[in-house]
Amino acid sequence: MEDYEALLDRALGQIPGIVTEKSRFVVPPPKTFSEGRTTVLDNFGEIADVLNRDVDHLMKFLLQELGTAGKIEGSRAIFQGSFSADVLKSQIDDYVEEYVICSECGRPDTHLIKSERILMLRCDACGGHRPVKKRRIRMETKKAVQEGEVYELRIDAVGRKGDGIAKMDKYTIFVPNVAKGSIVKAKIKKISGNLAFAELVEQS
Ligand SMILES: [Zn+2]
Repeated sequence: MEDYEALLDRALGQIPGIVTEKSRFVVPPPKTFSEGRTTVLDNFGEIADVLNRDVDHLMKFLLQELGTAGKIEGSRAIFQGSFSADVLKSQIDDYVEEYVICSECGRPDTHLIKSERILMLRCDACGGHRPVKKRRIRMETKKAVQEGEVYELRIDAVGRKGDGIAKMDKYTIFVPNVAKGSIVKAKIKKISGNLAFAELVEQS
């Protein structure tokens, strides 16, 4: 059967105007087996290759989604614990949907770029682009400074108007009545863009 498909592909490729790219993109089904207390994904390298993505990026995603540890060994990925091929397939499908497929034209000819700390998926076929969404970004925003919360801050500088200035994540935080170099606990009163205004709770 493979021979027939190869012949058909070749035949179609010789007729101008017929594009066979869609049939070219088939994510290889994961080949897995257990080895002791680990699961080996035997064709990991091949999968990353077809997706045209960095092995480390794909691996990081899978480890995070599976909630386990693991490593890349040659063209294999090895995961702690027992995972079925179906589980791995569904994670890889999620990865493809999130990091590979263009949501405008549905094609896989894309690449990832970082734009102002946001990971974007850019399509080579149609030029469409979108931010990569979901989990990773949600985790980043969870860490960010929030109104009403108390943080321990190191005052790196004192501004012209006498407010202490601390940096946290992407935020510049202003805390009145503190000295440069001090470590303080401060409650965030207001956030405006990348600026946050806090009040002193405790000075150590
Ligand atoms: Zn596209």
